[in-house]
Amino acid sequence: MSDLLERLRGRGWRLTSQRRAVAEVLEGDHVHLTADEVHARAVARLPEISRATVYNTLGELVSLGEILEVSTDGRAKRYDPNAHRAHQHLVCSGCGTVRDVRPEGDPMAALPSAERFGFTLTGAEITYRGLCPDCSPG
Ligand SMILES: [Zn+2]
Ligand SMILES: [Zn+2]
Repeated sequence: MSDLLERLRGRGWRLTSQRRAVAEVLEGDHVHLTADEVHARAVARLPEISRATVYNTLGELVSLGEILEVSTDGRAKRYDPNAHRAHQHLVCSGCGTVRDVRPEGDPMAALPSAERFGFTLTGAEITYRGLCPDCSPG
């Protein structure tokens, strides 16, 4: 469960009506929205909110570490409020639905030392692909 608004309140982040609109759009589970989608939904709550404000607010939330910037399709970046629980993504090739998933075991440990080329690992991002139940034939 994402509790973005609660976390932001806890940090004493000044919740203007504009910031609140952006944070409310990003509240919830399995939320992965592009900046344009965040803007469209924020406008529904606060018609005067500008694209620039939405972009700036997203940038701030990313630097605070309260939302993640993820790229699951190699195109538009998506914003993910599930920033405090390590997870990977399961993406539907049909409709683009993205689910947060936690594979068993540590994805970092899955890379044998012979395959690390002397790197010190700092993270691993895995994107699983497939068809969701709605997009599966039959
Ligand atoms: Zn689908
Ligand atoms: Zn996610």
